[in-house]
Order: sequence, then structure tokens, then C-alpha cells
Amino acid sequence: MEHVLDHRLHVVETTDWKDAVIALLEPRSPYQPWRYGTDEAEEGDTVAFVLNTDPPSVLADVARLETDAHPRTAVFERPLRQPNLVELSTLAKVLGLEVWAARGWSFGGDDAIKLELSLDECRYWCAPASRFGHNSMAAARTLLRFDGQCDGCERDIDLTMSGARDQVVVHTVDPHTRPQPGSLDVNVGDWPAVLCRSCRNRMDEMGFASFVDYKGVLHPPCPGCGARRTRRTFYGMPSDFMNIPPWLNAGGCCPEPEEWWCFACGHSW
Ligand SMILES: [Zn+2]
Ligand SMILES: [Zn+2]
Repeated sequence: MEHVLDHRLHVVETTDWKDAVIALLEPRSPYQPWRYGTDEAEEGDTVAFVLNTDPPSVLADVARLETDAHPRTAVFERPLRQPNLVELSTLAKVLGLEVWAARGWSFGGDDAIKLELSLDECRYWCAPASRFGHNSMAAARTLLRFDGQCDGCERDIDLTMSGARDQVVVHTVDPHTRPQPGSLDVNVGDWPAVLCRSCRNRMDEMGFASFVDYKGVLHPPCPGCGARRTRRTFYGMPSDFMNIPPWLNAGGCCPEPEEWWCFACGHSW
């Protein structure tokens, strides 16, 4: 059994955060935007991915080496599913590792364990507000939630291609502001999204700055009030209500014939 004092966490730093997110989501991607501090690591060592976003961030999933080998051979225990990003300097400050967070290529013993436990605590659930703003950390968080389809036209985007970085576009939105005290306003305005190049170009040609407005013209208008705020209704129990985007409507556990719901007047059809 590995002794805690011998345990090491190695840092892999990315040279291009977008290529890195694509390669993390799609292991068949040809992108290799990685920098390593060593070419030798031991069985059981872990690897943390530091993304060169602004501000710098760390993937809240570590990979592990199954044999003594190069850190690039480390594998994730579970497939990455909507992984989180943590801002590096705040994490380091909380753990008392501030100086080494920006310089170190590996952490040993207790420091490695502390980092792994802290990242593990951040693995699940990502508040929508953490993806608001126009910085690249917010954009990387949005891209990490990509499920294979354009949020606009819902066509597949192939991340295995060498040109994937140009075909997948992250739509960022203005920073989140909290509602007025006591307000129950749920009108979120725009929402971060992942688009194909065609939808991005179409948004520009049609003069849409807001993705939610663009998505509104892809859905049918409300037959009751004519508004372009139609949401597609889905059925089943969602596990994450806050992350339901404002073009989908949770219709409840029991499937009904209605496919659409109007956000403006509440009509279902
Ligand atoms: Zn599209
Ligand atoms: Zn309506």
C-alpha cells in the first residue's frame, strides 16, 4: 500500500484552454496542449490539470497513474461528466499553498492529499452564475458541460476533428447580478451556451446578441400570445433545477402530450 508521505500530485498545465477542454471531453481529439514538469511518475500518483484560463483554474477531477509511467498516461476513475473548474489562487490560499500554486509542478504528502480532497469537494454541481461573465474561466466551465450537440440547432458537433476548435463556439454572457431583495424574478435574460459555427454566424447575420433571443426564433411562436419565448417541455424528474436552461421547461414526472410552454403567458400546447 502506498505511504502518504510518498504520494505525489503532479501538475499538468495547458497551453490552450479551449484545445485542452476539447481533448478532455473527447480523448480521440488530436490536440495535445499540455506542459509537464516531469516525464516520470509512480503508480498511484495523481495528476491535476491547471488550465491557462483568465484567471487560472484547476479541473476538479484528478487523474491517477495505474503504473509507473509518464503523467500523460494517467486516467480518470470515472468518465468526465460536466466537470467543474476551481479558481486556482483562491484554492491555494485556502490550503496555504499560495506560493507553490503558481510555480510548483508537483505536491507531496499532506499537500497532495489536501489538494485532492478539496478538488473532490468541488466535483459535483456547478452554479449557473459561475458560468456568467466574459472571462475565459466562465467560458471553459460552459464548454466542459458540452453534451455533444449545439445548443442552437441541436446538431452534433464532432470534437474528434482537427478543426474542432473553430467549429465549437462558446457564447458568454454578462456577469450575474443578484435580484432585488425580496424579488422572485426568475427572468434570467441571456444564458451561456455552446454553439456550432453555423449558429454563431447565423446569430451575427440576424443581429442577435442574446442567445436566448436567437433560440426563441428557432422554436415556434406561442399560438396564444405570439411571443417568441417558447420553451421545449421535457418530462421526468430533473436532478438539477437551477441548471435547466431558459429554453427548456420541466413538465413534471408524468409525460403529457404538450411539447411547448410559453414563458410570456404560461400557455402549453
Ligand atoms: Zn447550431
Ligand atoms: Zn404566450
